[in-house]
Amino acid sequence: AKQRGKANYVRYTGGMEQPVFAHAQLGGELRRALDADEFRLVYQPIMELATGRVIGVEPLVRWQHPTRGLVSPAEFIPAAEGTGLIVPLGRFVMREACRQTAAWLAEFGPDALQKIAPNVSVRQLHDPDFLADVRQILAETGLPCERIVLELTESAVLRGPQVLQTLHRLHDMGVRLALDDFGTGESSLSLLRAFPASIVKLDKSFVDGIELDEDGTPEANARQAVARAVIQMAGALGLDTVAEGIENQGQADRLLGLGYTLGQGYHLARPMPAEDMTRLLAAQREK
Ligand code: C2E
Ligand code: CA
Ligand code: CA
Ligand code: CA
Repeated sequence: AKQRGKANYVRYTGGMEQPVFAHAQLGGELRRALDADEFRLVYQPIMELATGRVIGVEPLVRWQHPTRGLVSPAEFIPAAEGTGLIVPLGRFVMREACRQTAAWLAEFGPDALQKIAPNVSVRQLHDPDFLADVRQILAETGLPCERIVLELTESAVLRGPQVLQTLHRLHDMGVRLALDDFGTGESSLSLLRAFPASIVKLDKSFVDGIELDEDGTPEANARQAVARAVIQMAGALGLDTVAEGIENQGQADRLLGLGYTLGQGYHLARPMPAEDMTRLLAAQREK
């Protein structure tokens, strides 16, 4: 009945027809793209704010489409989640990122970078094979579990006891968990007490304009208040922090002043192909 209701809805509401069809079409396209090996990873450094030293990297997926060019994840991750294709796509991201990180550690030594931090969708956490896949990828690539941080959003973590059990298993394996986009979801504090997180990532929306308080605009002050509250809470709970979306030195300075030591953003480094990241790590070793 649900199926038919959906079909009728599509048929009789002209305005809705196009996006639903486009969504279905995108699902098929994504499957083809995965088979055709059209997905690529770029890597954005996570850096020490005071020194600019790379301490980790976040792999971000890109779709190199044969005719449409480079497609942003914002355009296809929701469809990949909706169709379940995020499961094999996420496995590809994790395998490739772990393989690349193991290669960097082999080339530049164990201090070259501490961690790789792939994004994981809630749909992946519901997959019964997720834990086995993670173990398999670690065994295959030889990357130690302590080198992996899984980035999860608050909405993912709030999805009930089954997901929470998977997260505890990962934590027990030594895999660390980060709460992504922190501050944008609901019930952050109670959540953090139940969830075995090691890191919170202060969302970009609280970094935007954080440096602009000289004129006393209330918005900037509100962001600073959130940034301050997040780092105080993280400190009290023994969590590390990463500030996201840093676009200028004023923001980096303000965050340092509030006690943030790690950050990510275009001002520090943009997401880049593996070859550029290799050059960055080589240059860092020479320092
Ligand atoms: P996210 O996990 O919050 O990743 C940060 C996003 O902010 C990335 O966008 C990054 O390129 C962008 N960014 C970093 N620094 C700055 C900055 O200074 N200014 C601005 N304006 N943007 C900055 P991207 O690569 O387009 O990814 C968007 C989102 O797509 C990610 O948000 C994540 O939720 C999702 N995503 C990307 N790759 C994957 C993946 O492999 N798996 C899953 N499940 N989701 C992914
Ligand atoms: Ca992320
Ligand atoms: Ca984020
Ligand atoms: Ca985000």
